[in-house]
Amino acid sequence: MNERTLRIDIKKDLFGANEDAAAKNAVMFKEHGITAIDIMGSVGTGKTQLIESLCERLSKSYPILMIAGDLDTRIDADRVGKHGVDTVQINTETACHLDARMIQVALNDVNLSKYKVVFVENVGNLICPAGYSLGTSKKIVVVSVTEGPYMIRKHPLTIKRSDMVVINKIDLAAILDFDIDALEHDIREVDALLPVFRVSSKTGEGLEELIRGLGL
Ligand code: MG
Ligand code: ZN
Repeated sequence: MNERTLRIDIKKDLFGANEDAAAKNAVMFKEHGITAIDIMGSVGTGKTQLIESLCERLSKSYPILMIAGDLDTRIDADRVGKHGVDTVQINTETACHLDARMIQVALNDVNLSKYKVVFVENVGNLICPAGYSLGTSKKIVVVSVTEGPYMIRKHPLTIKRSDMVVINKIDLAAILDFDIDALEHDIREVDALLPVFRVSSKTGEGLEELIRGLGL
């Protein structure tokens, strides 16, 4: 009798395929001299407004492409498009994160030699986008003072897999009696060396420092 059991590690296979696609994207961005940035964060944390503020300041110096991930709308892409930036919308329908192959498909008809900066706004979700490399040069996570004090402690893996944290909406900290130092302390507990930027997309505070931190 011949009985075989195959144990397929779906997770390993899935993530492996994604890593291959991400490596290809990384080569493509590098060949075109593009700085590509994956921006992760919950719904309402201010990812789109942050990208808008960055585009306002950067679009004169760099040709920018924004890739927006969203379940069903192109609200974010349309907002950013108003700042003189080209946009590609990916509607993921049911998927709660972008993956590297979606980026490949999104870039299929794009002439990348036109751009120097690519901002990717990931689907609003602080959990699984961190597990999927897109081939970007940096993965940054945006948290804001409106999300309550436990965002970092509840999402340590996302912090571990990020290259930078932006604490957004600091203009509201006093009104909400929010302790930004305590939040930063939580980040330091996960990664003592991770760059942290305190920003208000609304007032512009901290944006210049962030731009320098992004190497732009
Ligand atoms: Mg958004
Ligand atoms: Zn997901």
